[in-house]
Amino acid sequence: MHKALYFEKRNEKIRCLLCPHHCLLADGETGTCGVRKAVDEVLYTMNYGLLAAVNLDPIEKKPLYHYYPGKPILSIGTFGCNLTCSFCQNWSLARGEADNRAERVKPEDVLDMLEREGGPGKNIGIAYTYNEPSIWYEFVLDTAKLLNRHGYKNILVTNGYINQKPLQELLPFIDAMNIDVKAFGDNFYKDYCGGLKAPVIKTVETAVKGCHVEITSLIIPTLNDNPGELEAMAAWLAELNPDIPLHLSRYFPQYRLNLPPTPHAVMEEAKKIASKHLRYVYLGNIELPGSANTICPYCGNLLIERSRYAVKIKGLDGTACNNCNNDISIVLS
Ligand code: SF4
Repeated sequence: MHKALYFEKRNEKIRCLLCPHHCLLADGETGTCGVRKAVDEVLYTMNYGLLAAVNLDPIEKKPLYHYYPGKPILSIGTFGCNLTCSFCQNWSLARGEADNRAERVKPEDVLDMLEREGGPGKNIGIAYTYNEPSIWYEFVLDTAKLLNRHGYKNILVTNGYINQKPLQELLPFIDAMNIDVKAFGDNFYKDYCGGLKAPVIKTVETAVKGCHVEITSLIIPTLNDNPGELEAMAAWLAELNPDIPLHLSRYFPQYRLNLPPTPHAVMEEAKKIASKHLRYVYLGNIELPGSANTICPYCGNLLIERSRYAVKIKGLDGTACNNCNNDISIVLS
């Protein structure tokens, strides 16, 4: 086990200060995330360097559509999560136990993996994904600092449930984030995720000042597809920046929630509502022609065509639309 950052002693107990749960742990107890444990008045992280999944993925799979489109990114994850969503789409890792049979690596080993994949020209860096990377904090921070020095990008695919102080320490080494905003209604996080909405909102507001940000929302029929709430979310994002890409992802039954998959009509309506405020709204997890294409918001030109994970840049001249010359908010290199 590796000594954790962000904790304090409280009488005989340990309070973890990494995420808004602020778990108060007696000796031998583990926090809600399942991977941080109090031992002899010290907090330890049990999953430092523990790799549960490693894949070379297209960056579109994160999903990031406006950040190095078409590039591969080495994606790694571990065990544990600090939210307890009943609809978790990745529960075998998120709710899995830290398994010592999994490979344990050092940040330098991750750098070696990247070099073996062809270096920064071929593979832009690492995505910390699959489970929740913020509760892998110490390993992510050490690895991100190392990779940053070697010219690689660091990408977080996160639920955003992290306190501001650790986020601020990590953010200078993070190049892009996909943040899950699970709903905009007041009770959804409490009722279905075992958390609160406000810290996630704060994470998004902080992150957009420090790196490239895209947002994902899983649309679950009857639970978070209320048109008024969807519009409020899109309006809030547009106030931060109307160029923030929003990925509306179709729900399928998983883990403990057994509602039917979200109807296509609900997904299309959600896109229509969000598009009143945001320039780039995509549908994911759904077979609808054109729903993942990037269209110029000024003239309707097809900029990037996506079919599953095949990406063709069609209407861009640099980062400008090659029809109307307006600049498109996209990072190409
Ligand atoms: S990171 Fe884990 S131990 Fe720390 S407060 Fe959050 S859930 Fe609790």
